[in-house]
Amino acid sequence: MEYSQLDQIVAPLLAWYEADHRQLPWRGTKDPYKVWVSEIMLQQTRVETVIPYYRRFIERCPTVAALVSCGDDELLKLWEGLGYYSRARNLKKAAQMICASYDGRFPETYEAIRGLPGIGDYTAGAVSSIAFEQARAAVDGNVLRVVTRLTQDRRDIMDAKVRRQVTEMLENVYPPKLRGDFTQSLMELGAVVCVPNGEPLCRGCPLKALCGAHRQGTQMQYPVKKKKPQRKTEHKTVLILINQDKIALRKRGAQGILSGMWELPNIDGILTAKQIRQAFAEKNIELRELREVSSGRPPLKHIFTHMEWHMVCWAAMCSAVGTDNGLTWVTEKQLTHEIALPTAFKKCLKGCGTMWEGTGGQQQHDK
Ligand code: SF4
Repeated sequence: MEYSQLDQIVAPLLAWYEADHRQLPWRGTKDPYKVWVSEIMLQQTRVETVIPYYRRFIERCPTVAALVSCGDDELLKLWEGLGYYSRARNLKKAAQMICASYDGRFPETYEAIRGLPGIGDYTAGAVSSIAFEQARAAVDGNVLRVVTRLTQDRRDIMDAKVRRQVTEMLENVYPPKLRGDFTQSLMELGAVVCVPNGEPLCRGCPLKALCGAHRQGTQMQYPVKKKKPQRKTEHKTVLILINQDKIALRKRGAQGILSGMWELPNIDGILTAKQIRQAFAEKNIELRELREVSSGRPPLKHIFTHMEWHMVCWAAMCSAVGTDNGLTWVTEKQLTHEIALPTAFKKCLKGCGTMWEGTGGQQQHDK
């Protein structure tokens, strides 16, 4: 089909969505706060993973005001394991802005929503259409896949100009009513029928009679996406420093990956025992019983969006408890209940074979 015929998808898509969509905890609400939280959580994250996080988050922070009053450590703990921690920080910043600039009421215009921290075109479109019934499209990878297959559009979907044009074409065909449902029906079709990995389930697709790629049998040729540059690899030596019933953590810097998060002490590169002792001696930290806990095994791998870490883990006893060395000593209980430790470092604890083994985290990536 041509882009000029896109209006033909509206009726069959809405009928299909009304009859047969998944029941998800954020569906059916028009509360912009809840729509926003769910959309932020769903970025780069699977629906099944998000559901328990969303429920916990909304129970603890049911409103913008509750989010503003939630402490940073508690907020990160609620997010622990979900990855992309800047999303949680931006949620809070945006909530603070809503309180300061909009009297605590979620703004209703697309432009004002788009102006909040952490909100891009997609999320602004989703909140505007789902919560406020505006003719704004939310175009992500799922929607681009559906549209480029329907129209046999061979342009690169990573090109911002193409995304903008697809958004515009869709917004031109938004129906006068059920605009939020139309947005969600496109998302739903891309998630469960015109699926991202493997063959789309065209037999059950409400748009199959209209779909150019289906007619030609070329579904798998769309969407066209330029190859991503290869991920950079960083090697790290990670230390589990134990002092009685505590281990040492430190805060990461304010910039870069996992900025501001807690981490296990670590040094760039794969170091020998002698080099590790030397590096810590320079900070007046003496290590005892130093041993490589991942000895004989390949380095632990952790994948971020643009980078992967290969980590070799060591454990040592250590009695440096001063604060001038940048270390903070925490108990297992604190680590379990209060402190959000990124999954990359939880993997190290899980593999360390010490009393800290039990604190191993979930398997999602920290991005
Ligand atoms: S017919 Fe197949 S390829 Fe076309 S939109 Fe439907 S699921 Fe996707």
